[in-house]
Amino acid sequence: MKSFDPSAIAVRTAHFIGGEYLEVQGPTLDVARPSDGRVYAALPVGDASLVSHAVENAWRAWRKSGWATMAPRDRARILRRFADLIAADAATLAPLEAVGSTRPVRDAFAWDVPFTAEGIRFYAEFADKIGGQVAATDHAHLGMTIAEPYGVVGAIAPWNFPLVMASWKIGPALAAGNAVVLKPSEMTPFSALRLAELAIEAGVPAGVFNVVQGDGRTTGDALVRHPLVGKVTFTGSTQTGAAIMAACAHCGTKPVTLELGGKSPQIVFADAPRLDDVAQRIAAAITINAGQVCVAGSRLLVERSIAEPLVERIEQIVRGLKAGATWQPDATLAPIVSGKQAERIDAIVRSSLEEGARARCGAARVSVEGDGAYYAPTIIENVTNESAAVRQEIFGPVLTVQTFDDEEEALALASHADYGLAAGVHTSNLGRALRFVRALEAGTVWVNRYGRTNDFIVPTGGYKRSGIGKDLGKEAYEANLRFKSVLIDTIV
Ligand code: NAD
Repeated sequence: MKSFDPSAIAVRTAHFIGGEYLEVQGPTLDVARPSDGRVYAALPVGDASLVSHAVENAWRAWRKSGWATMAPRDRARILRRFADLIAADAATLAPLEAVGSTRPVRDAFAWDVPFTAEGIRFYAEFADKIGGQVAATDHAHLGMTIAEPYGVVGAIAPWNFPLVMASWKIGPALAAGNAVVLKPSEMTPFSALRLAELAIEAGVPAGVFNVVQGDGRTTGDALVRHPLVGKVTFTGSTQTGAAIMAACAHCGTKPVTLELGGKSPQIVFADAPRLDDVAQRIAAAITINAGQVCVAGSRLLVERSIAEPLVERIEQIVRGLKAGATWQPDATLAPIVSGKQAERIDAIVRSSLEEGARARCGAARVSVEGDGAYYAPTIIENVTNESAAVRQEIFGPVLTVQTFDDEEEALALASHADYGLAAGVHTSNLGRALRFVRALEAGTVWVNRYGRTNDFIVPTGGYKRSGIGKDLGKEAYEANLRFKSVLIDTIV
């Protein structure tokens, strides 16, 4: 694969409402390319009246376009076509994603775009498979539940995987017959617009899928609070998730799905099969997207007897990574989304070092291209569960290492006061693996692997402050429906 010229990528700086672009005069935000820090667009910030316009338009389209009332199989056909168009559009979508985010173009082609298409296709397949049920009542009655969409779903996405995270929101919401107003992250706002164009081309009625642009406090908050938004689905930080939940409580007690932060442990026992493979897995889980992954395996807990050989192997792998712009296909370490985020990573690392932790490698920013922010893969030892680097979600390529002597100690270290998003257990002892599957307080537990492949049917979501509800799986589809109970007296 060849490198591409980032300045050749054109973006539309607009909202997408009612099936077309809408340009509005008003305040804007600078949008910079993470790879070189260059400001390349001015993003309009949608205010409350713009958001109202989008939501009311979506509501009308939802009522009048027939999207909710058409045969679910017809809706499925349109969404399958949407998925096909996304997959076929990789030549446009992948560079668009890469230029404005931390996603390397090589990965955008190989993973983000096909995964986005498959996410939509997966939910298209649900459209005519799940509805209501007839209840087991006596024959004097007929009891049933009818599955109905909410109307307009407000979807708010983060910056770390802009296309994929958007697809996890819009796929189930659209398949269930809702209209959607999506607010992408203000840092990575443009690939969502291309999705909206493709949805229209696929036959999704105008107004059923809309994109509003802007920051969280202005645009996101107005979307969450709008009375015609019947459900909110959010992926982002725990702090923002809590604010959104409070707003949902006060504005219509509306249901909310929250996919939030994590601080996921990777527990490696001395009997783990093939130490070299384990090292590869641990290294990948903290360096993919430069660690800017909600389920980043950021806390290595390793049985003392193999700690040194394992950490040595991981260190060797991460030292070999090459930081570079997302448009350089040979780069193997992505940029950090912004200079501010790189400073935050560095501040947490520094404060841990001041507390007595020791950095085995990294612990510094790397200079690569222009004003791009890059952070060297970092391994930190001599930490406890109280160290800043162990407690806080860093969202960078920073791995902490703690050792244990037995299962009880491993479990105690694995438990995090706040987060419970995911965990990895690496062992060849089946009983032990199952004991940990049961005991870990985490929404996802991987055994002898880490991370997702095409397993959309397995949902994802957090325990504790890592979230409420699930993305993916049947669960996310059902969360975009409300169930009406009907009881009919058959003897009148
Ligand atoms: P963030 O919370 O800062 O922002 C996420 C989105 O929320 C953005 O679109 C932002 O504009 C919007 N927003 C901010 N304040 C808002 C408000 N008051 N009302 C409405 N919307 C508001 O998160 P981020 O920095 O973009 O993303 C990184 C975080 O996302 C990390 O914590 C990561 O763990 C989490 N994440 C979780 C998952 C998961 O599946 N659990 C997946 C990806 C990312």
